[in-house]
Amino acid sequence: QAKNSDRNCYRFFSEEMNRQAADQILLANALKEAIRTDQLYLVYQPQVHAATGRLEGVEALARWTDPALGMISPGRFIPVAEETGQIEAIGLWSLRAACRQMAIWMRARIEIPVVSVNISALHFRNPDLPRLIGDILNASGIPPQRLTIELTESAMIENYEQTLVAAQAIRAMGIGLSMDDFGTGFSSLSNLANLPLNELKIDRSFMDGFEPTGKVHSVVTAIIRIGRSLGMTVVAEGVETQAQLDLLRQINCDVIQGYFFSRPLGVQDLEAWLHARPDTGCSQPGSQHDAA
Ligand code: C2E
Ligand code: MG
Ligand code: MG
Ligand code: MG
Repeated sequence: QAKNSDRNCYRFFSEEMNRQAADQILLANALKEAIRTDQLYLVYQPQVHAATGRLEGVEALARWTDPALGMISPGRFIPVAEETGQIEAIGLWSLRAACRQMAIWMRARIEIPVVSVNISALHFRNPDLPRLIGDILNASGIPPQRLTIELTESAMIENYEQTLVAAQAIRAMGIGLSMDDFGTGFSSLSNLANLPLNELKIDRSFMDGFEPTGKVHSVVTAIIRIGRSLGMTVVAEGVETQAQLDLLRQINCDVIQGYFFSRPLGVQDLEAWLHARPDTGCSQPGSQHDAA
């Protein structure tokens, strides 16, 4: 009897696993086609200076709508792309698209200081990465100061030496380097101290339970102090409320990104969003100047 149910159990798991594997293969093939036929596109989320409300930059985020499968979130397709190796093609595609867009903004005199692009930690193991980034940058004609690379760690940094070499080469070109999703998953304090980062992004999970004097508040305060003492710009992501913004200002967080200011937007919507703000950018919701 027990044996029988064990076997059923085993069969259940193996069917579930087969179904998942088939799902992944389906997704991986569709993704390959999407990259080939240019079905991916970027949306851009504003990053706002906490103290002044000035626009500091935008983060480029990949979107995919498959004709048959519909909208597929990066939370689903990025892990698949990392498993199949397609993450490198996505990273380079995102870089090209974001640099091209920045060149268009610059020609149109639309004042967006920096565009940030997510590059998987797995991609950093490829010794060609810095040269490829340099080629894309040169082809777009934008100055390196206008580009930041977000090192996105959904996987452990396995080849740390190679990551360090790539990071140094990227910084030597004058491109920004940001540690994404800091404080959860695989990002560690030793990476923070040793990699040539100029920006630190606090993972948005810290915004849950972020209240005055709570434990999360202590941790976020400490992260901001560490980042700033290492000379980095500290960005809080996932900021949704005025209360979170006010607390982050009190503890000297430099830059705010989140739904409170704006969701990630397509190019036209972003330009409309920019247009709707006054030149100073100071009358955004919650700006310090409002209270004065
Ligand atoms: P991420 O780089 O940490 O990007 C921030 C994510 O938080 C985005 O999710 C954004 O839409 C979401 N977000 C921003 N503000 C808020 C907020 O106030 N509240 C909430 N609940 N969420 C907020 P998205 O666009 O779904 O992207 C998920 C992840 O996928 C990204 O996390 C990034 O790691 C990865 N990703 C996206 N595009 C690319 C890409 O082109 N290349 C690589 N390698 N990874 C990418
Ligand atoms: Mg990011
Ligand atoms: Mg992030
Ligand atoms: Mg995140």
